[in-house]
Amino acid sequence: MTSAVPTAIHIEERPGRPLTMFGPDFPFAYDDHLAHPAGLGTIPAARYGSEVAVIGGGLSGIVTAYELMKLGLRPVVYEADEIGGRLRTVSFDGCPPEVVAEMGAMRFPPSSTALFHYIDKVGLATTPFPNPLAPGTPSTVVDLKGQSHYANTSEDLPKIFTAVADAWQRTLDDGAAFTEMQTAIRDRDAKTVKRIWDELVVRLDDQTFYGYLCASPAFSSFRDREIFGQVGFGTGGWDTDFPNSILEILRVVYTGADDEHRSIVGGSQQLPQRLWDREPADLAHWPAGTSLKSLHSGGKPRPGVARLHRTAPNNITVTDTHGGIRTYPAAVFTAQSWMLLSKIKCDESLFPIDVWTAIERTHYMESSKVFVPVDRPFWLDADPATGRDTMSMTLTDRMTRGTYLLGEDPDSPAVICLSYTWADDSLKWLPLSVSERVEVMLQSLHEIYPTVDVRRHIIGDPVTVSWEAEPNFMGAFKANLPGHYRYQRRLFTHFMQDRLEPRYRGLFLAGDDVSWTAGWAEGAVQTALNAVWGVVRQFGGNTDPGNPGPGDVFDEIAPICLPD
Ligand SMILES: Cc1cc2nc3c(=O)[nH]c(=O)nc-3n(C[C@H](O)[C@H](O)[C@H](O)COP(=O)(O)OP(=O)(O)OC[C@H]3O[C@@H](n4cnc5c(N)ncnc54)[C@H](O)[C@@H]3O)c2cc1C
Repeated sequence: MTSAVPTAIHIEERPGRPLTMFGPDFPFAYDDHLAHPAGLGTIPAARYGSEVAVIGGGLSGIVTAYELMKLGLRPVVYEADEIGGRLRTVSFDGCPPEVVAEMGAMRFPPSSTALFHYIDKVGLATTPFPNPLAPGTPSTVVDLKGQSHYANTSEDLPKIFTAVADAWQRTLDDGAAFTEMQTAIRDRDAKTVKRIWDELVVRLDDQTFYGYLCASPAFSSFRDREIFGQVGFGTGGWDTDFPNSILEILRVVYTGADDEHRSIVGGSQQLPQRLWDREPADLAHWPAGTSLKSLHSGGKPRPGVARLHRTAPNNITVTDTHGGIRTYPAAVFTAQSWMLLSKIKCDESLFPIDVWTAIERTHYMESSKVFVPVDRPFWLDADPATGRDTMSMTLTDRMTRGTYLLGEDPDSPAVICLSYTWADDSLKWLPLSVSERVEVMLQSLHEIYPTVDVRRHIIGDPVTVSWEAEPNFMGAFKANLPGHYRYQRRLFTHFMQDRLEPRYRGLFLAGDDVSWTAGWAEGAVQTALNAVWGVVRQFGGNTDPGNPGPGDVFDEIAPICLPD
């Protein structure tokens, strides 16, 4: 998700101390853990080559499999669809392959340092993403209640927008120790992060984002709350998050997850694909040249999983959709957790009942997108009458909500994300076919840009997605509601299996659904690393004393446990 009025909420960058997604719930330095020369751990040589099932070939599953392979285990990846999951990059029929659309994740904050560890490792380049009013975005139009405002920087907008940005800054400073928290995150001061956060969790777990705004004296005006909801911070359009827990929002703003976004040149799906193909140099047990691809028959993951059950304590038996049955001493589940309630037949003995309840209570945000390829970035043409860009990145309260203009090479095709929506705004598109969606979207844009003929520039078929309607997904990403902290904690901490009765051990949860920062790929990576630590432990392995893993320091930084 990023800030329509971006300058307002960030303290000055101090050299050498970048803002990262370090906590606040579990302030563990995953980036340092990954960078340490000792690696993530070792397993006893007698266990080398042991198979571990990894269910889901999205980012979390592929990172888990890649790291387990490096440790000398044999990951067996099951994937119902394509490697990549919610990192899904598609091209357009009849257009050059480099003209792509990002159906899931499309913009990554540099504060996602564990994610960027892998982006850098596989040699992917990134470029600034054209968010509203971001420094690299040529221009932005904010269109509310039938009135359009054109801006190159936030100073060009009417004063009310600056006032709303100030109100948000005051709300964060007065009610959430914002500056102190960001300083503690930059300093990797886990103690201070926890002191501030634990008190907020107790105080705010039952509060919605909207309730939190209403309780702030800075937001006593309904009109300000309305404008904030529609323009907001970062990516804008945050009113769809109003019913969610305020804790979800604070996690995003503290860690800079809404800021300075970058896109991956050529598409984000390349990241898991390149990890699949990669032959790491620093492998235990396996000969040089081993990759996830070479460990899988035909170079492909096994099919989707249809059933999970236990045939002995600690063991997990996996039945795939082609009827294959295999039993593993450990398995990591990374698909959306509602799958365990519906499409995958599960024994109740897989998890303790409290974990089942938490899975059951998971709440997802819906999300839809529509992209069209165009002949060139015509929006950069100056309007002869006004001198302004013909079209701009557009935030609006119309059906489209957010329109993004992607591409700046004047001689190459480009892409328009006609609309990117969440929650109710996404559900509004659900009954419409792709062509019906495009018609309504072009009509909305015509109201804002009456002299621009977008249709004339379209050079190929549109592509669309509604994640809530995808067969192997149940929504875009988890978003905790008020009162969900306890459920979230159960899912995130499930990798600490020494605390579980032995009959429940061996199946680990990872991925976006168990992350504290769902909707951000960093959480998919961080939870993968938790699962890797858990599997190493399960196989009797260890981490190097100089590079303790997330489970080694768990008790020092564990997420606060709220009473029942
Ligand atoms: C619309 C949208 C926008 C987003 N925007 C951003 C963004 O801008 N920045 C950012 O950092 N993050 C963003 N995210 C979040 C990011 O995409 C996720 O955090 C990340 O991709 C999740 O990876 P994962 O491996 O946990 O899950 P997934 O990618 O969902 O992987 C799970 C895999 O499991 C597979 N599967 C399902 N059922 C089965 C089965 N029965 N058997 C085997 N496999 C199965 C699925 O096909 C899938 O490949 C966005 C996500 C969405 C949907």
